[in-house]
Amino acid sequence: MDNILTIDVEDWFHILDIPSLPPLKTWVKLESRVVSNTIFILDLLDKYKTKGTFFVLGWVAEHFPDLVREIEKRGHEIGSHGYSHELIYNLTPDRFRRDVSLSLEHLSRITSRPILGYRAPGFSIVPETLYALDILVELGFYYDASIFPMKRNHGGFPGFSEAENWMTTPRGNRILEIPVTPINWLGKKIYLFGGGYFRLAPYLLIEQAITYLNARGKPALVYLHPREFDVNHPRLTMSLARSFTTYVNLKQTRSKFEHAIAQFRFSSIETIWNLFSSDSYLIAS
Ligand SMILES: [Zn+2]
Repeated sequence: MDNILTIDVEDWFHILDIPSLPPLKTWVKLESRVVSNTIFILDLLDKYKTKGTFFVLGWVAEHFPDLVREIEKRGHEIGSHGYSHELIYNLTPDRFRRDVSLSLEHLSRITSRPILGYRAPGFSIVPETLYALDILVELGFYYDASIFPMKRNHGGFPGFSEAENWMTTPRGNRILEIPVTPINWLGKKIYLFGGGYFRLAPYLLIEQAITYLNARGKPALVYLHPREFDVNHPRLTMSLARSFTTYVNLKQTRSKFEHAIAQFRFSSIETIWNLFSSDSYLIAS
């Protein structure tokens, strides 16, 4: 079966919730590595004939439109990761709407197909920000991939039920929800397929967990960032704990990822859910 491959396309300085985060107006002056790191991932995916969903930050689309064209040209799905990489629960509903609209403006100018999916920075759709789903429906999104159904540093929705993919929003709209995929282990939910979790877990465990999910008819959802493939990217100052989860085992990302895509099938969300040929998408558009 197909597992779900997602990449959040942002640069090395798009780290959430740290005092040393450079302000948005200074981003253009920083050395950017997002293009080369993303091309590296695209080449790896070509090698294994694998497609994925790339949630591109609007700021990246604005400054590197050719990168977005390249991702689309190579057959991947483009989604939105917002414009300025802010946690939703730090925004008002109006600022959230403006942020996502701006990302759509930049992405839609570049892509030839409509943008169907959104992922929040830091998986920040939590019980208090469910209103964001109504705003996504209002802006024309068909699905959301921003729920992390367990505790984490920021974001996290521990009580979320993964049994159903269709969610009813607070205002009664319906939206397809693609949460990350934890597994139950010794009575606890654990997640192994993205970011620091992926870099920390031994590959053998990741392999067993994907096999376990697939045997039960469930896809594993992988999420990674271009910077995680780049051992030499500049580091930001942060607490020891954050520094550990942000930078641990960067050397292993490539080999583990390559193992995973060689061993298991992965695809984009639009392919797995058949979004471009479904009747319901035609209604949503
Ligand atoms: Zn992000």
